[in-house]
Amino acid sequence: MNSYRLPRSVVPSQYEIRIEPDLPAGTFTGSETIEVMVQEPVSEIVLNAADLALREITIQNGRGPTLRGTATLEDGTERARLVFPQALSPGSWRLSLSFAGVLSDKLRGFYRSTMKPAQPRVSPPADAGTEESLLAVTQFEATDARRAFPCWDEPAFKAVFQLTLVIEEGLTAISNTRVIDEDRIPGTGKKAVGFAPTIRMSTYLVAWIVGRLEATEAVRVDGTPIRIWCAPGKTRLAGFAREIAAFSLRFFREYYGMPYPGDKLDLIAIPDFAFGAMENLGAITFRETALLVDEGAAAHAELTRVADVVAHEIAHMWFGDLVTMAWWNGLWLNEAFATFMEMLAVDAWKPAWQRWVAFGVSRAAALLVDGLASSRPIEFPVVAPKDADAMFDVLTYEKGGAVLRMVEQYLDPSVFRDGVRRYLADHRFGNAQTNDLWRALGEASRENIPVIMDGWIFRPGYPLVTVRTDDSGKVLRFSQRRFTYLGKESEASEPWQVPINFRVRVKGDVQSKRLLLFSAEERVELPGRPDWVVVNEGGHGFYRVRYGPDLLRRLADAPFEVLMPVERFNLINDAWALTLAGLTSGGEYLDLTAGFREEADRNVWTALLASFAYLSRVVEPGDRSRMEALVRDRLGTAAARLGFAPAPGEDEIVRQLRGELLRAIGTLGNDQAIQARARDLYAAHRQDPSSVDPDVIAAVIAVLAHGGGEAEYAEFLDKFKTAQTPQEEQRYLYSLAGFRDAGLLRRTLDLTLSGEVRTQDAPYLVRSLLMSVYARDLAWRFVKDNWETMERQYPLGGLRRMCEGITTLATPALEEDVRQFFTSRNISLGGKTLEQYLEQLRIAVAFREREAGTLTDYLAGFR
Ligand SMILES: [Zn+2]
Repeated sequence: MNSYRLPRSVVPSQYEIRIEPDLPAGTFTGSETIEVMVQEPVSEIVLNAADLALREITIQNGRGPTLRGTATLEDGTERARLVFPQALSPGSWRLSLSFAGVLSDKLRGFYRSTMKPAQPRVSPPADAGTEESLLAVTQFEATDARRAFPCWDEPAFKAVFQLTLVIEEGLTAISNTRVIDEDRIPGTGKKAVGFAPTIRMSTYLVAWIVGRLEATEAVRVDGTPIRIWCAPGKTRLAGFAREIAAFSLRFFREYYGMPYPGDKLDLIAIPDFAFGAMENLGAITFRETALLVDEGAAAHAELTRVADVVAHEIAHMWFGDLVTMAWWNGLWLNEAFATFMEMLAVDAWKPAWQRWVAFGVSRAAALLVDGLASSRPIEFPVVAPKDADAMFDVLTYEKGGAVLRMVEQYLDPSVFRDGVRRYLADHRFGNAQTNDLWRALGEASRENIPVIMDGWIFRPGYPLVTVRTDDSGKVLRFSQRRFTYLGKESEASEPWQVPINFRVRVKGDVQSKRLLLFSAEERVELPGRPDWVVVNEGGHGFYRVRYGPDLLRRLADAPFEVLMPVERFNLINDAWALTLAGLTSGGEYLDLTAGFREEADRNVWTALLASFAYLSRVVEPGDRSRMEALVRDRLGTAAARLGFAPAPGEDEIVRQLRGELLRAIGTLGNDQAIQARARDLYAAHRQDPSSVDPDVIAAVIAVLAHGGGEAEYAEFLDKFKTAQTPQEEQRYLYSLAGFRDAGLLRRTLDLTLSGEVRTQDAPYLVRSLLMSVYARDLAWRFVKDNWETMERQYPLGGLRRMCEGITTLATPALEEDVRQFFTSRNISLGGKTLEQYLEQLRIAVAFREREAGTLTDYLAGFR
């Protein structure tokens, strides 16, 4: 018996909750009455409560006397045991409790956030306040509803929630459903705001927000009003999100074939927010950068971030909120599905953005972590709540999403959609497991889905598919084994069921073929010797490809257009992974990159630039200037072709590419001419912000930081503090990690603990510093010296992401020190997170040791 799980002898069906926060004091009180069904005679009720003081506890069933109970709190399991003087007979009862708590400052449970009003551009508008104001907001997933009200805080205990908030008259309250009454409480300066009952749903989806907030006009989709809420003065930044929100709501209603399950939809920007966003039914909360944006001044990546996150959360209203996983081991299904649907919706909204090609970058991030010996299966048993916290990672979201995309493409999109509709219809208002989705997809497709899927979901890792020709040259031999960076090639592993799409040209004839590779090796006979073969056609497969030398040469010699952009992306990304794994040499990889000087696709460049950044971190200091020369050599042609200003009618992703190339050539390439040009562009931008393209200006800021001194630092710090948009704030904040002068970097480090940078951002800033070649020694020392303070101040998720920065401390001495630090303090980051970081660090150091000499020789030709 898992001591974290609640007994099912008493089951709640409806909560009436009344909450009264005191924002200035940072406290709250509450009371609730819960309708429960007692299934068998019991003398105690066990439910979840944490960091709460329980006061009045009574229960009655309308037939006998009211019984008064006493509570014992169990800290370790976060449960309350309510004991009554006599046994409760089976049947329905009304349990009443009153309680009190403290508003948290760790961005979880019921917590406090500080709202700065919009920065005046010239002088403050008359109606906007200039003082900071307080906001009280909830964040319950995974298991923090219990910090706001005692409840059965497990996803399978679905119930109806009816909330009343007692707040200051001048404040606004938002919750999952619409307001049904609002009454002044005479003589108190307060009002009671009552909300309509919710649908039957899980506790982690309950939400409320109290503060001084402003909303956009509502836009209606099938009668559902959609509003964006934010700090006063910021609604001018809400139009873009409202547009994608309205599109998504309509798109998903059609895709799922089912109406939206709520009675209104509010999207709320929260100034202090630990995650990206949270899918509370009808009241989705976001960090500001994921919701508010100035469409005309934003870089492409900043706009896609808003579109992706909004679509993702709205996809959850059905998948997650209406149908919910039975327990946290099924979290992946919620998140993988929402990740998959977000791409589908945004791709339908803006086809020119080519989101599925860009998804290659997300898939690559999952392939990286899943290539570690310390990877984990997508789904694994979850015992304690902290195990569920560690599930919010790239394997749950990106690997899960990629695997769903693979099966969707294998089955056919309409068959997949029919299976999803069947699953939602069968389980709405209830809970489901992974196998329920496989069953529904299997019924829709008449394929044995569990057999195909189990290897991808319940086992860690993925295959490296090797393809070679036999001696005749007319037979393709496909083989598979698990890909690992540090493992040995001879290690055997159980085969996956790999749906392989490939394209082959034989005797001038191009054909696409399908193969389900389910054993260690399969042979495919061709009508003749192939001119070339492209494996993983369309790039949807979650595996890597290694071509035999002959096939690789034929592919390299084939015209550029033979490969689609996502296939070129995979070719580079797989080649780089094989290099890190020691299956290809660094020199061979760099030779391959020389063939991409004319590349025009932004995603392919993302793969190339990531590998150059990695190399820049592991080359010997004496080789750095030659590495910079190599970057200039590889990027120069493409960067020169694009110039510094967009051509009329140019695609948004071309503008994004221009920004990324300029940034890389000005920082990794340390290009003096580009740096000089960046100074001119910034001067022009200072005079007239609209004179420079947003993607270019974002790059210019990074380039100026790289070559900048005291004056630039002071200016950027000030720009961070007075930014007009969340995106501008982020650009300037992160630029402070991009300087090279040790004194300036030390000042940035000090900022991370000073309170000037919000705790939602500070750990990410530290991560950037750890990942900088110029800051890493300082930053690592700073982390060691201030670990306790960071642990106390930062949200746990932020601390975990901060530590990702250790993966790039790629010298043998630093690696030793890092291991020593984490081991001696017995630090756990939840799940296998720390092991995975340490393994990535080992890979980097091993690569450095293996390739140092050959890289020095290779780079000797560059200056
Ligand atoms: Zn999600």
